[in-house]
Amino acid sequence: MTSGSSRRDSLSQQVIDTCIAMNTQGINQGNAGNVSLRVEDGFLITPSGLAYDRLQPADIVLVGLDGTSQDRLQPSSEWRMHRDIYANRAEAGAVLHAHSTFATTLSCLRLDIPAFHYMIAVAGGSDIRCADYALFGTQELSDNMLAALRDRRACLLGTHGMICFHDNLDKALWLGVEVETLAKQYWHARLAGDPVILGDSQMQAVMARFAGYGKQPDRDD
Ligand code: 13P
Ligand code: ZN
Repeated sequence: MTSGSSRRDSLSQQVIDTCIAMNTQGINQGNAGNVSLRVEDGFLITPSGLAYDRLQPADIVLVGLDGTSQDRLQPSSEWRMHRDIYANRAEAGAVLHAHSTFATTLSCLRLDIPAFHYMIAVAGGSDIRCADYALFGTQELSDNMLAALRDRRACLLGTHGMICFHDNLDKALWLGVEVETLAKQYWHARLAGDPVILGDSQMQAVMARFAGYGKQPDRDD
């Protein structure tokens, strides 16, 4: 049987592995961004401002849904965004925030990403909204984020980056890569011309098709 502390260490290592993958897969750089995982008594989140490749499981901070922590290290300055997603979106199992280049570029232009490509549906609907700007680490930023995440599991953060959540860390990382890919494609389409935006009925058909897409027997990945 796994003891409480070794279970926490193994979950914390998964958080570290996701951060390292986020950088090696090119959706974040340096110490920017942060990752968390929902656990029974709150969430495990990266500490503030430390290099991911030097993190040990004991450095990952446990924060309660009331925002308090008994741990030695300071949690990510963005713990409020993570806490507010877990408190308001029961389906969220993991949260990823990154300063990926193309999502950040669009966020600096304060552009929503419309249905220029059917894959926009991975974020839960027919667009990915850009939240209004607020100072990093503030409750105002988190409030703006929650509004932009209505009926969605990803959004851009004005003049900052992107945030997304999913059932688990692997899916949150997958979604982060998809959002950055969509941002890159939209950027290039706009540079080349005036992308055609899919209409409501076309996007409803996409959502219906997605409901049964990728479901293979005995696989939940
Ligand atoms: P932390 O190092 O405090 O997580 O901050 C990184 C960041 O992206 C702030 O928005
Ligand atoms: Zn950030």
